[in-house]
Amino acid sequence: MLPMDTIQYLLPQNRIPLAWYNILPDLPKPLAPTLHPGTLQPIGPDDLAPLFPMSLIMQEVSTERDIEIPGEVRQIYAQWRPSPLVRARRLEKALDTPAHIYYKYEGVSPAGSHKLNTAVAQAYYNKKDGTKHLSTETGAGQWGSSLAMACAFFGLDCKVYMVRVSYDQKPYRRALMEAFGASVTASPSNQTESGRAILAEHPNSTGSLGIAISEAVEMAAKDPNTKYALGSVLNHVLLHQTVIGLETIEQMAMAGDEPDVIIACAGGGSNFAGLTMPYLGRKLKGQSHARLVAVEPAACPSLTKGRFTYDFGDTGHLTPLVKMHTLGSTFIPPGIHAGGLRYHGMAPLVSHVMDLGLAEATTVQQLDAFAAGIQFARSEGIMPAPEANHAIAHAIREALDAKEEGKHRTILFNLSGHGHFDMQSYIDYQAGKLQNYDYPAEEIAMALAGLPTVA
Ligand SMILES: *Cc1c(COP(=O)(O)O)cnc(C)c1O
Repeated sequence: MLPMDTIQYLLPQNRIPLAWYNILPDLPKPLAPTLHPGTLQPIGPDDLAPLFPMSLIMQEVSTERDIEIPGEVRQIYAQWRPSPLVRARRLEKALDTPAHIYYKYEGVSPAGSHKLNTAVAQAYYNKKDGTKHLSTETGAGQWGSSLAMACAFFGLDCKVYMVRVSYDQKPYRRALMEAFGASVTASPSNQTESGRAILAEHPNSTGSLGIAISEAVEMAAKDPNTKYALGSVLNHVLLHQTVIGLETIEQMAMAGDEPDVIIACAGGGSNFAGLTMPYLGRKLKGQSHARLVAVEPAACPSLTKGRFTYDFGDTGHLTPLVKMHTLGSTFIPPGIHAGGLRYHGMAPLVSHVMDLGLAEATTVQQLDAFAAGIQFARSEGIMPAPEANHAIAHAIREALDAKEEGKHRTILFNLSGHGHFDMQSYIDYQAGKLQNYDYPAEEIAMALAGLPTVA
């Protein structure tokens, strides 16, 4: 018999939350409005109608606290949810730390990451509202494969613009998307005006999420039967991810522990918000004291080095203006292997929460992230996605700080995905072929100089 001193905290399927948690009504200050790129006036739901189905637009602007998860979506969630919360006891031992380390493991989704939580919901609402085709972008391919899978479930057509550097680095992700029936194009491509404009200037462009978003948005804007789906950044995407934190709160109670610090990597901010917003809701009610830490790559530090201001969500300037931490929409981040963290901006909600001082941010260098991922794999047996390595690296720092101070600390982090499709990056790391990137100050200064002016 195993002792009751459990390692995994599992919830039964009937504990999948009934509603997502929308933090907007609980925040001390509302979000800044989204602006029309032409008039600079706040946009209304109709302005977004060419890109998104109305039910998702209404979620985007909703101030309702609890938003019901449709039965059909919960049914699909039940294939891998509730996801496990795991106590990383062997890692604790390896670090010889008095800290408790827990991780919420989102790699158990059939797509391999948290992205499927919102992909299923977005495909569901698009289908319900009559969409036939979805267009999207993908960095590392995690989002593209999640959406491709969800589109296959709901009988939608899926077109994916995949950032060139990942398209070349991660052929198996592409193959997975194609297996689910999606069509995949390397971005920048010559299929769109935005792509052609970039290629004219930089024929060997390795692409960026900002460019791929422009291409996918352009395709949707041109065709009334095509809508656009985004894998992060927007309120409704972050909302769908709160299923992660809601489950974790119950699981931490099962473990009889309360987190002192909660950590997640941040690209567009969705897995960070998904884990932390339900905790922030409790914090605002005095029921949690946890510090919330977003971890970003040193090569693409929007929260720690970006400006909190209005900017475009894409490089081609087709999207509305949102107030966020940004490095400038024309900034093309170095080709780090954590493709999902190569975005110039940050979710407006996450940016706002940082601005209010309710969360903090830090950075990790590429080599430190991989070293942490390898250490984690050797202790816990899971190969993490390169993005998640950033969260692990900071969790280890917190555990070592606790050891140095000789104090207890309960650390919780989001293991946002597995790295089974990212083994080439581990091969390159082990062969000493990866490098750190200094903060690209000059390029960022240039990109920031091009920010739109909003009075
Ligand atoms: C996409 C991705 C991220 C980064 O996106 P967020 O919206 O910031 O969560 C992190 N981890 C994994 C595994 C991803 O696929």
